[in-house]
Amino acid sequence: MELMPTELSIKDRKLVIVWNDSKTQEVPVKALRDRCPCATCREKRSATPQPNQSMGLPVISMNEAQPISILGMEPVGGYAYSIRFSDGHANGIYTFDLLRSFENHD
Ligand SMILES: [Zn+2]
Repeated sequence: MELMPTELSIKDRKLVIVWNDSKTQEVPVKALRDRCPCATCREKRSATPQPNQSMGLPVISMNEAQPISILGMEPVGGYAYSIRFSDGHANGIYTFDLLRSFENHD
C-alpha cells in the first residue's frame, strides 16, 4: 500500500498528518521549515560549517526566533505537498516519504 496523508491540519504550530494506515503524526512547523528540501535551503545547510556546535545545538538566528506557521499547503503531483510558510518561503516540495520520516525527529 502506498502511504499517503488522508487528512492534514494545523494544531499549536504543529502539522497534524493522518495517514492512510491510520497513523497520526504531529510535526512541529519549525522542524518542517528547518528541513526544507528545496535547493536553496539544502545549499544553505551544507554550506554553513558549524565547528562550534560540539553538542549539535543549533544557533537561533533572529529570523528563526519568530514563531513560524504554515499559511497553506498545495498537493504536488500526487506524491508531495508544497508548504507555504509564514516567513514567505514556499519552495520546498515535501514528498510523502519526507513527511513520514519526521516521526523520528520530533
Ligand atoms: Zn527551502
